[in-house]
Amino acid sequence: MKKYNFGAGPSILPQQAMKATAEACIDFNGIGLSLMEMSHRSKEFQAVMDEAQALMKELLGVPEGYSVIFLGGGASLEFCMVPYNFLEKKAAYVNTGVWATKAQKEAKLFGEVVEVASSADKNFTYVPKGYTIPTDADYLHITTNNTIYGTEIFTDIDSPIPVIADMSSDILSRPVDVSKYTMIYGGAQKNLAMAGVTFVIVKDDMLGKVSRTIPTMLDYRTHQKKGSMFNTPPVIPIYSAMQTLRWIKQEGGVKEMDRRASERADLLYAEIDRNKFFRGTAVAEDRSRMNICFVMNDEYKDLEAEFLSFALENGMWGLKGHRDVGGFRASCYNAMSVEGVKALIACMQEFEKKH
Ligand code: PLP
Repeated sequence: MKKYNFGAGPSILPQQAMKATAEACIDFNGIGLSLMEMSHRSKEFQAVMDEAQALMKELLGVPEGYSVIFLGGGASLEFCMVPYNFLEKKAAYVNTGVWATKAQKEAKLFGEVVEVASSADKNFTYVPKGYTIPTDADYLHITTNNTIYGTEIFTDIDSPIPVIADMSSDILSRPVDVSKYTMIYGGAQKNLAMAGVTFVIVKDDMLGKVSRTIPTMLDYRTHQKKGSMFNTPPVIPIYSAMQTLRWIKQEGGVKEMDRRASERADLLYAEIDRNKFFRGTAVAEDRSRMNICFVMNDEYKDLEAEFLSFALENGMWGLKGHRDVGGFRASCYNAMSVEGVKALIACMQEFEKKH
């Protein structure tokens, strides 16, 4: 039976990218060595790093004056590196969920943090709007896709101060005007690569402005100056990123990813809204296209576990919602096919018929 992976992350990746990565782990480029056992300083790996960085720039239209850096440590390490490198006195944070809260917590170790808006009052089911951005803050931090609660910010915010965005779970799913951001970062293990690498897109001339001393490894300038090769980078995850980026390019780039994301999300939300057993948890206008969260309607709550097993028996993998939301979460990242979504819909309809 065909399996569809709706897991939130590490998550579905293009088959082609996974196969090529597996192959490189055995015999890289026909050299007769695994990429695992080759020096990151070899010209062969340098070519991988160069291509991965170049493709990130090309696909996202990264302007001149920005660097693409690959790091270890996950998006969670960025939660502290961001304030380390950019917070002099005060930073503004928009709180749209668990990850945004965690980012804010780290910033508080470095200076004053103003929470300019929060959707905690309604269990993060919406994206706050119409808030005032303090012009005296060093930066505004946002989380564009709320992986756990399934809301998403679709527009590039106009801000009087530098914007720094955690795009861990929606990077490369739509075109972004990178020039509106001072920095974009994220863990790669959704739309980009296997787990183990973090991407950072940073405006070079915004670095080095804080007065504090930054430990070498936590200073973005270290990695920017050394082309992400200051120390040993996570070579296999970077190779898998390069392969995923090649696939995105071959499929038509982020515009095509954007079209597919809308197609999948429109189909699935339409079924959630139609089927009397289910209801979406996020407000309609802020519904994420990457993480589609839904629960059983109150009168059918007892059937939740049954639906999960039924879906699993039918090949739907990773549908269980995060414990803070309950219910179900169908993560539909770039590599999810429209067939996968249609299979899930068929499963929901079959379940409806059964009861
Ligand atoms: N930010 C967002 C939006 C996430 O979804 C996640 C993980 O799912 C993280 C940050 C944390 O990423 P990592 O596990 O790479 O530290």
